[in-house]
Amino acid sequence: MLVNTPEIELWPGGLLRARSNHDARTLARARHVLRRKRDRRYLAADLPEGLLPLVPRLPREPGLNDALHVLARHHPSIHARPGIDIVPTLPLLRLQARLDALGLDADSYADRTGLPQVAEPAWLSFAGFDRFHRPLWLLIDAARAWRSMRDAALRDGIVLDAISGYRSHDYQLGIFERKLARGQAMARVLAVNAAPGYSEHHSGRALDIGAPGEPPAEESFEATPAFAWLARHAGGHGFAMSYPRDNPHGIVYEPWHWYHAP
Ligand SMILES: [Zn+2]
Repeated sequence: MLVNTPEIELWPGGLLRARSNHDARTLARARHVLRRKRDRRYLAADLPEGLLPLVPRLPREPGLNDALHVLARHHPSIHARPGIDIVPTLPLLRLQARLDALGLDADSYADRTGLPQVAEPAWLSFAGFDRFHRPLWLLIDAARAWRSMRDAALRDGIVLDAISGYRSHDYQLGIFERKLARGQAMARVLAVNAAPGYSEHHSGRALDIGAPGEPPAEESFEATPAFAWLARHAGGHGFAMSYPRDNPHGIVYEPWHWYHAP
């Protein structure tokens, strides 16, 4: 289980890749790793003997109190609890602050796109690994539906790759900041990424799907047998394509983006 707080994620031990030899020794022993959502930096390791800071000035890290509170309070329940399907969401905090950072206005953005604000779930379920061997996190019922759909496709000889599942508000802001820093125009970024707080990926119900040998998140996906299979069978597994051609949200055609409806 991935436990979520507004600014920091609590990762179970054993899933995060070390970025140095020193990290590797620490991460191998960590029960949990605190990871900053904005840039995915590792902040601290929860070791049997106590919390080990992985950044300077850890006590001044925004959101640390929330994360430590959850770590202390829910320690025994952090591990998967089968049968619990009702997942609370986190409060929608700092939504306008993130939009301000990008020079966007919440009301006019919402009017223009018709996209609703999407809260982050309080915890997410491990749904296997994505194409890049990163852990894939989804809401528990979406995770179950994805596994059964992927298995059904495989029985028909079709391999479906997960490209991207749950994504936080902070990380979405980071995507915008990196693209803008590389010189992309805001209008171009907005055509392929919903503004932070408005992406279906925040819900844990959206999944980008690819096929082996195909570039991720390209329109060419619609010509693959994998897409043809999805078009016929995804509905039976509760998944629907969110952004068909000429959708009213002003988002480009995304044949790879599927949403699991509750
Ligand atoms: Zn997507």
